[in-house]
This record gives sequence, structure tokens and C-alpha cells, in this order.
Amino acid sequence: MATTATVSSSDPPSGPFHALLIEDAGSRKTKSSIQQITVDDLPPHEVLIKVAYSTLNYKDGLAVAGKGRICRTLPMVGGIDLSGTVVESQSSKFQKGDAVLVNGFGLSETQWGGYSEYAKMKPEWLVPVPKEFSLEQAMGIGTAGYTSMLCVNAIRDHGVKPEDGPILVTGASGGVGSVAIHLLSKLGYDVEASTGGSANHDYLKSLGASSFLDRSDLDRDSKPLEKEVWAAAVDSVGSKTLASVLSQTKYGGLVAACGLVGGMDLPSSVAPFILRGVTLQGIDSVMAPMAKREKAWKDLAELMDAKILSEIYKVEPFSQLPFLADQIVKGEIKGRVVIDVG
Ligand code: NDP
Repeated sequence: MATTATVSSSDPPSGPFHALLIEDAGSRKTKSSIQQITVDDLPPHEVLIKVAYSTLNYKDGLAVAGKGRICRTLPMVGGIDLSGTVVESQSSKFQKGDAVLVNGFGLSETQWGGYSEYAKMKPEWLVPVPKEFSLEQAMGIGTAGYTSMLCVNAIRDHGVKPEDGPILVTGASGGVGSVAIHLLSKLGYDVEASTGGSANHDYLKSLGASSFLDRSDLDRDSKPLEKEVWAAAVDSVGSKTLASVLSQTKYGGLVAACGLVGGMDLPSSVAPFILRGVTLQGIDSVMAPMAKREKAWKDLAELMDAKILSEIYKVEPFSQLPFLADQIVKGEIKGRVVIDVG
């Protein structure tokens, strides 16, 4: 599918447009509201983008609901990612009409993010949207899916082959986990999914998982070394789960650790590293170098099945953001949420 560019004669806008602003509410608290701002309010970066879509992640929920100290400067426009079309560019690298996306780089933390009809970005943050994806699909993948690709590429780069054994994906039904299962299965790996309940099994099977583990089997105190089971793993849970995964990773295997839904701690030992040569590789999507990002998006364009992608996310209107933020913080949202910003 060709990526559509929708720049009209009224771009750049002379009047106000909507943005979700997070502001200081005193007593170390923040409040958020949808407000009208103008291009003059935007930061002085070189590329003006008409934003089409952003996404809602747990971190966004915390920022918008005023539950965590996500924003390090205020006022802040929320949204950790965006896709859209270049409207004006002072950089020779991007022209009016180019379809672009941004993941991370401190959006919604130190830099104004994607919850705004127009955004100004530095050219070095922009990735061209692969021609295989629409602007909506690019955010259907979003930061979670791009992080999955970074994890899968870490496993491939380590030299783990399908014949080396099964690959474990924890937090399987989440944004990172579900895309990781699909990508690994597309690459011919045998994927075991760790999930909270059997209700998810059919969905995870449709993504490519071939066997299942209950999340409680990993979320327990583990021995430094247990039976070797997985050639590699993608872990978005952390804490006791990550420790259990490390103790069951095969000799020379790799665990790509990207998340902390189960906790920030790691009650493990050095045994898997010094006795089995296991590699624990941290995966960061926010400040990942551009070459890794471009490779990940190119690989996503090759591997991601459009039908499966369409089943992973739903699109919600901008006006619903405050409500959806509360819901995601309470754990009441299933699947990925794309926000229609335009
Ligand atoms: P989601 O909320 O979409 O999914 C998390 C999944 O983890 C859930 O669907 C559930 O899956 C499982 N889960 C939920 N609660 C627990 C729990 N208490 N213990 C164990 N498993 C649990 O999150 P994402 O997939 O978007 O993100 C996953 C993690 O990755 C987050 O911590 C996020 O902050 C992090 N992340 C990191 C990035 C980076 O750059 N390093 C980038 C993007 C995300 P199930 O029911 O199947 O077990």
C-alpha cells in the first residue's frame, strides 16, 4: 500500500488547532486538557508535520492521567509517537508531502509529542514511513511494535536460529508481546507464549504461538539455574519473571529485556551469565540510533502481515484521550490503541 500524503492548501494553518496539553497543577501534580494552540506555540524545530495518528501506551496513560512523573518539563504535549505528513521543512532531508513517523526521542517527556494536530520535530528524529504502510498502519505498529522488532533483531543478530530451540515471549498478549510473536513466527521460530490466562490462547495462536505457559509459572522465586528450555526470549515483564527466564535460557542464548510490567527489580544471580554464557540484552527504543530504527522499520515492512496488523489495534478519536488514559492506567484496555489526531 502506498503511504498517503495529505497536505492541503490550508497547510500550514494560520489559525488554532487542538492539542492535549499537560500542565503544572501545583503540589508536584499535573493536569491535562485538550486546548487550542497555534503554530507559534510549537517548539522551534525545523520540520512542521501535520500529525495524522499517535498511539496510547501505558506511559501516555500515566502522563495524561497525571499519575506518574513522565513529563520532565511543563507545559508538555503528550504522545510518545506520531505519524504524519511534512508541511514545511527547513531541512534538505525532508520535503513537503513526505510521510514520516517518530518514535521516542523524549516525546512527551522532554519534547512536545504527538497529541497535537501539528508538531515541529528535529529532522534527525524522523523515519520515512515505509511505502508498505499507511500512516494509520505505521501507528498500528507504533512504538510497541517497533520495540518488538528491535528485540527480534537482537535475537537474530546474536545468531540464534530456528533450529536452536523455542523462543519465549512474556507479556504475550500485550503490544510488544503480540507483535514479537508474529514476527518470530514469520521468521520460522517456534514461539512459546507466556500469558495471564487461557482466554488469550486462540488469539496468540492466530499470531503464530505454538505453545503456552501460564504467567504464574515464571512469576515465582527461581533457582539460579534451572532446566535449559529456550534458545532466546523477549521479555516485557522484568522482576521474578525475567529471573526465571534467565535461569531457563539455553547455553549461549539471549534474553532481550525491554519492559517492566511485573516490576523494576531483577532477583537473579550471575549463574546464567558465567556458567551458561547467557546474554541479557537491554532494549531501548527511545534513544536507539537511527540506523537501528531504519533497519527495524524496513524489517517490519517485510515481515508484518497486514491482516494480522489490522486485528492488533483499534482507532479511537482524539476527544476520547482523557477517558482512554484513565482506562489504560486501570488496566482496562486490551490491544493497541491508535489515536486519530487529525
Ligand atoms: P501492554 O500493557 O500492552 O502489555 C503488557 C502485557 O504484560 C499484558 O498484556 C499482559 O499480557 C502482561 N502483564 C500485565 N500485567 C502483568 C503482570 N503484573 N505480570 C506479568 N505480566 C503482566 O504493554 P506493552 O506491551 O506496550 O509494553 C510492555 C512493556 O514494555 C512495558 O513495561 C513498557 O513500558 C515497555 N516498553 C519498553 C520500551 C522500550 O523502549 N524499552 C518500548 C515500549 C514498551 P498477558 O496477559 O498475555 O500475560
